[in-house]
Amino acid sequence: MLELMTNSEINVEFNATQPAVKIGFIGLGAMGFPMAGHLAQHFETWVWNRTPIKVTEHAKMHGSTVVSTLEEFGQVDLLFTCLPTTTEVIEVAAQVLHGLNQDSRLKTWIDCTSGHPQEALLLASSLSQHGISFLDAPLSGGTVGAHNAKLTSMVGGSELALEQALPALKTFAAKIVRVGDVGAGYTVKAIHNVVLAINLWGIGEGLTTLSSLGVDVGAALEVINHANGRSFASEKLVPERVLTRAFPATFKLGLLSKDIGIAVDMVGRSSASTPMILLAHSLFKAAKSQIGADQDHTAALKLLEQWAGIELKT
Ligand code: NDP
Repeated sequence: MLELMTNSEINVEFNATQPAVKIGFIGLGAMGFPMAGHLAQHFETWVWNRTPIKVTEHAKMHGSTVVSTLEEFGQVDLLFTCLPTTTEVIEVAAQVLHGLNQDSRLKTWIDCTSGHPQEALLLASSLSQHGISFLDAPLSGGTVGAHNAKLTSMVGGSELALEQALPALKTFAAKIVRVGDVGAGYTVKAIHNVVLAINLWGIGEGLTTLSSLGVDVGAALEVINHANGRSFASEKLVPERVLTRAFPATFKLGLLSKDIGIAVDMVGRSSASTPMILLAHSLFKAAKSQIGADQDHTAALKLLEQWAGIELKT
């Protein structure tokens, strides 16, 4: 298991008069698009996306610079990635590394993907052979946090690399905590998300039970949210996404299921005994296959609704 170092909260203020630093950003998805927008307000920011239309839209909206090939990223100082999984990060890294030459200035790679800790160690090691430091800096706060620059970032990697990345990270993250060496950020993120999933499933089971017994779900939730059984899932996710039947697909069920899988891998490397995490893994895998990987993560509760033969609404 990865050894987590003592938490050290970062308290450095963003300084708009930093010396000119060139930033690269790969992956203008639901999270990456607004994050790169915040970066572009403070730094010269070069952007690349698999589907090129998003890059032209970003350049129009935020004044970022369009990059047509990944090989060009050797010319930035700090490079961000925000992709679905570590597999895609490794794919793009191969092309970026292929483009490096003696004039390259790339020194720090910050991956905001909710990635895999063990695979990250391999990536970090191959980057270090080119003099590039790696930080895993996954995020919490969703697309709303990305738009409002209020994300929480959990960072794994060296203190020195984080110091260099901090002014850029602070353009979109309101809370940045170094949780240990490379891989520790991903590990904390995976555990965080499995806890979120367990809370979501728990309130889902509770409410489907109450509903099928004829109890008003809105009244029940009002009580729970003023009592100690409340959680982010009961206070925000269920009222705003499930009871409204909106299920806005801002964080896909497939991505949450992937995060739970990473948590299970890390549990397997630890001495912990985690029956609840293993159960959550099976339940969310079933929800992903039956409800759909591209649905919002809260749509997992539709599986409970199907089993109970009811629909959660007020
Ligand atoms: P999206 O699906 O919205 O975006 C994924 C991005 O990755 C897109 O830019 C997509 O390009 C790109 N991409 C996908 N496959 C490839 C590939 N093979 N090669 C190159 N680029 C590729 O995902 P999110 O922005 O929602 O999530 C990104 C990461 O952030 C994930 O790890 C997720 O778990 C994490 N996360 C997401 C949160 C959320 O609320 N959405 C919250 C916190 C973390 P294209 O435009 O061409 O499809």
